[in-house]
Amino acid sequence: MDYFPIFIDIAKKPCLVVGGGDIAYRKINLLLKADAQVTCIAPETCDGVAELVKNNKIILIKKDFEASDVNAQVLIVSATDDAVLNARVSALAKKANIPVNVVDSPALCSFIMPSIVDRSPIVIAISSAGKAPVLARLIRAKLESTIPNAYGKLATLAGNFRQQVKAKFNNIEDRRYFWEKAFSGVVAEKVFAGKIDEAQTDLQAQLDDSIDSDIGEVYLVGGGPGDPDLLTFKALRLMQQADVILYDRLVSDEVMELVRRDAELIYVGKERDNHSVPQEGINQLLVDLAKQGRRVCRLKGGDPFIFGRGGEEIETLAENGVPFQVVPGITAASGCSTYSGIPLTHRDYSQSCRFVTGHLKDGSMNLPWDELAVEQQTIVFYMALKGAQHLSDQLIAHGMRGEMPVALVEKGTTPEHKVHTTTLAELPDLVANEIIHAPTLIIVGEVVKLREKLNWYDMDKN
Ligand code: SAH
Repeated sequence: MDYFPIFIDIAKKPCLVVGGGDIAYRKINLLLKADAQVTCIAPETCDGVAELVKNNKIILIKKDFEASDVNAQVLIVSATDDAVLNARVSALAKKANIPVNVVDSPALCSFIMPSIVDRSPIVIAISSAGKAPVLARLIRAKLESTIPNAYGKLATLAGNFRQQVKAKFNNIEDRRYFWEKAFSGVVAEKVFAGKIDEAQTDLQAQLDDSIDSDIGEVYLVGGGPGDPDLLTFKALRLMQQADVILYDRLVSDEVMELVRRDAELIYVGKERDNHSVPQEGINQLLVDLAKQGRRVCRLKGGDPFIFGRGGEEIETLAENGVPFQVVPGITAASGCSTYSGIPLTHRDYSQSCRFVTGHLKDGSMNLPWDELAVEQQTIVFYMALKGAQHLSDQLIAHGMRGEMPVALVEKGTTPEHKVHTTTLAELPDLVANEIIHAPTLIIVGEVVKLREKLNWYDMDKN
């Protein structure tokens, strides 16, 4: 370790910043976050610093730096563009044993400032010992994206209970067990969902043993159409914390790669006409697993509430008193159209968009064809490969032009993403003559033509 990491309490303590430019302004703001009493010494200041002075956030002494300015300071930052002055500030501070930082001059510093992920009271500091600050910042960006914002609130909540928990459990092991459960269970999830009051009540109840804290939870998570980069932060977090994952055919291999390594994986199928586990079986399995105290992630393709039967699954959970949460995902219509260069709406071509199921029941689709066969609208058919002939016939019979552009998207957003463009009249021939791999989505509307200009994703392939 080149530097020893510590966190210093500078609240209400005098800190000096020499210089009044943009860099000084950034450092002052950091010091203010820790509630320091900042004095800035500079003959001139930038607008930001002037604003802080105006709002009484800091004291400005408009003059050149003098040796006596270091007196009584607990921390000094020199942020001027004058190398000689910076060296002088550094030497004086070091002589007086006051920690000093000179921006971008590690040799003149007695402490360096890390990249910070601020989830106060949780604060993560990252340093490369001045060797690769950009790398430290990249690491910071990674952490920023994976650590939920609400961790700070969780830590604050825990802080409020610390004494009580200490009083109840004498030994450290028991305390640790209690907190681990709180931080990875329902309490934490409620904080993340913004329900701080409920989380507080639950934590109190767990402490008093007045609720069954052994019941698990179900996360109904939208895994998106295939590309793992389209997962939400929340989906990823819950996938990585669940003990059991129930997934089906629509969840891509790349997305499955991201679930917790040691989680139990249960395939519940749903291949067309070949349901490995019937829907009622899935609903019940979710209840049973949660009642064993397990955290269950029901991972679905796309969005769980769009042709995903997510509603039915959580209905059973609600009836059985199992806590659950739902994470939306990018639905196939959105993912496939975007990755095909087809905007679903467009001021000139389509003012509305309908998502409909093309699933055949007894050889037909029970759809309001009159409402669908209109201009200036985009229709997205899910589950419609087998019904392509039927939907083409029906739309044309209800007045839609046979030349209406149509796109058929295979395995959208995955590495095998493929788009076929045709017309409504020729769609049945395309489906009959080409080898097409499920899942597929059919997009009907003038917007399909825009693909010629707007395609950005699979330009080399088609
Ligand atoms: N809940 C899912 C839809 C489930 S219904 C969602 O929101 O996307 C299953 C249908 O979704 C498939 O028959 C197909 O029409 C469509 N689908 C899902 N993923 C797809 C993909 N990657 N490419 C093309 N179509 C897809």
